[in-house]
Amino acid sequence: MPVEGPFILVNPERCLGCHTCELACAAAHTEAGSVIGAVLAGERLHPRNNVVQVEAQPDGGIVKLSTQCRQCEDAPCVRVCPTGATYRTETYTAVDQRLCIACRLCMMVCPFGAIHVATTTVAGREKRAAFKCDLCVDRPAGPACVEACPTRALSLRYPREVVQQSTRATAHQFLDALESQQRLASNP
Ligand code: SF4
Ligand code: SF4
Repeated sequence: MPVEGPFILVNPERCLGCHTCELACAAAHTEAGSVIGAVLAGERLHPRNNVVQVEAQPDGGIVKLSTQCRQCEDAPCVRVCPTGATYRTETYTAVDQRLCIACRLCMMVCPFGAIHVATTTVAGREKRAAFKCDLCVDRPAGPACVEACPTRALSLRYPREVVQQSTRATAHQFLDALESQQRLASNP
């Protein structure tokens, strides 16, 4: 039974579209641990997130934001994978690249476009395999993208916290509305 795990939340109001998070993500998943070190060692760079620009409605302004896996609890990529390469752990939705046959089914069903297939080295052999956000679970300092973002546009959050925050915001709005109504009623 999947449990409620964390995910990376982006605040588009803070995102500059600078791509620092992509570089940090790619570096965090290399042996060298840095972009320059990886390039010098001939390692491939594979960011698991993707910074995009979209047109905002209704004003048509441009919104920049980092997109990555939402760590779905009932993940379509897990349901569709014919080899069991994508699976749900206690906290996130993972890919075992040793089992991946690069069929792209996970890529096609992901509602967020958060999976891509690329060439990599698995157990000393070059192959194509799926890549997705793993929340940097093997990184003691936590998600590299969150740490690197210069504007703190990204955070590691639990769905419950996000709901509580929205509930608090709605409660404040309600109290503000009530207060103005009472003010109007006492000063007609
Ligand atoms: S590092 Fe932060 S500000 Fe820059 S693109 Fe990523 S989320 Fe946006
Ligand atoms: S949490 Fe880690 S794996 Fe996921 S997008 Fe951020 S840096 Fe990449």
